[in-house]
Amino acid sequence: MASIFSKIIAGIIPAYKIAEDADFLAFLDINPLAKGHTLVIPKMEVDKAFDLPKDVLAKWLVFAQPIAHAIEPEFPCNRCGISVVGLEVPHAHMHLIPLQDIGSMNFSRPKLTLSSEEFLEVQTKLLGALERSK
Ligand code: 5GP
Repeated sequence: MASIFSKIIAGIIPAYKIAEDADFLAFLDINPLAKGHTLVIPKMEVDKAFDLPKDVLAKWLVFAQPIAHAIEPEFPCNRCGISVVGLEVPHAHMHLIPLQDIGSMNFSRPKLTLSSEEFLEVQTKLLGALERSK
């Protein structure tokens, strides 16, 4: 079923994109829990992560790996955390979040409101780190 994320994939809704290939897209969460909070989605329109075909499920983590490695040095943290929730948007997505402590993963905390300049700054940092890692 088409979701707001399918509109981002199609370019109908803008997003601060971080990485893309034929099967996956990574972009900044619009209401981040921390600077660097990135969503990684399969382009396939499947609601629940564990309903994805096995090959997509496996490739999803591999696609996310360099993004997590880019987040860690750019947004000083204990580590990059990974979470799959999906209670808001019915299109499988993985949250990559720089963690300070267990509270960093508390989705009921107030979200950050970033200006477009701040989003661009986060995007530029991550794109630069990804480019340098090639
Ligand atoms: P979940 O479904 O895992 O509970 O949360 C969905 C996430 O998607 C939330 O963190 C929310 O901020 C993010 N989100 C919802 N709509 C949009 C959107 O249009 N653009 C972007 N970049 N993120 C979105």
